[in-house]
Order: sequence, then C-alpha cells, then structure tokens
Amino acid sequence: MDSLYDMSSDSINKVADEVRACKRCRLSEYRSNAVPGEGANSAKLMFIGEAPGRTEDTLARPFVGSAGRVLDHALARAGIDRASVYITNVVKCRPPMNRRPRKDEIDSCIPYLMREIMLVNPRIICLLGKSAHDALLKGSFREHRSRYVKRNGRIFFTTYHPAYVIYNNKLRGMFVSDIIGIKKMIDAMNE
Ligand code: SF4
Repeated sequence: MDSLYDMSSDSINKVADEVRACKRCRLSEYRSNAVPGEGANSAKLMFIGEAPGRTEDTLARPFVGSAGRVLDHALARAGIDRASVYITNVVKCRPPMNRRPRKDEIDSCIPYLMREIMLVNPRIICLLGKSAHDALLKGSFREHRSRYVKRNGRIFFTTYHPAYVIYNNKLRGMFVSDIIGIKKMIDAMNE
C-alpha cells in the first residue's frame, strides 16, 4: 500500500465503494458483484477468507453460502453475534470456477484488505484457510493452525476455511472448538 496512506481520510464505506467499482485485476471480468467486507466497523474480531463463492457473488455479501452457514453455526455455538464481527476476504471478486486466486490477483486486491484491517483495528484476526494465512503470515499453515501468532502488533489465529470443513466433515468439531477458543480469548482480553 502507498506509504502516504492517510487513514484519517479513509473509511470502511470508502473501501467498499472502491471495491464495487474496482477493475484492478482480471477477476473483475468474471464477477456479477464485487464483495466488500461487512460487519461491525470497530469489531474486536475479524474473519478473513479466501474469495467470494457463487452465492456471495450473487448477493454481494461475504460468507452467505454453504461455507457461510458453517461459519454461522460455529459463531452461534461460540455465542458470537455475527453482527459484532467483521468478515471479509483476501480477494473481493469471485475467481472463475472457484479456483484459488492467483498471486497477481492477490497482490492487486490486498491493499483493500490492509485498509480494512487498519480501519477496523480488530484485537484478533482469524485467518480462514491457507490462502488467507499465506497472504497475511509468513510460515507454514500447518504449524500455525489453531495457534495464536503475534505479528506487527496484531494477533492472528489460523484455522480451516469453512468450505474445507464441508468437504472434511470430521474437521467440523475442531473448527467449532477453534471459534469457541477465540471467544474465550476475547473475553479474557476484556477482563
Ligand atoms: S479482486 Fe480485488 S483487485 Fe481484483 S477486481 Fe476485484 S476488487 Fe479489484
């Protein structure tokens, strides 16, 4: 991101407007809608996934399809109100056939994510899946999974992407317990 970035003149609404009009990378050619992040603008907890899927592309909202239902279920089990968190993706437009976003697409889009992180300023950032992990943290997804990692003054927690949990149903319990653990951590920070 531009080192002259001035946060005082920026806002989540501004980021969202820019995302909706963005044509910085080829993914703009395939989308029905760009999908900005949504949620509480000063959330203590931010979730970052990989990219919008088909339902998200149609509805222009993040995590509202089958993966969203897995996330919603885990949030409910943890006693976390979805409206109290901020949910976004590494890239804001759906890659064709739900393929992984390419490096140049991530490089084009990540300034939006960095602005969202700075503006929301969450206590904990939960990275959902390897793409989100690799975009934000150096090191191995496997080593960081279900762990807290402190980088640049921020606390990151890495877990599986809910879509991966759908295909590996035995991970569902682990995913839910990860989210419950985050809730406990946030509660402990508030004490
Ligand atoms: S994926 Fe990001 S950089 Fe690419 S067109 Fe969409 S909003 Fe712009």
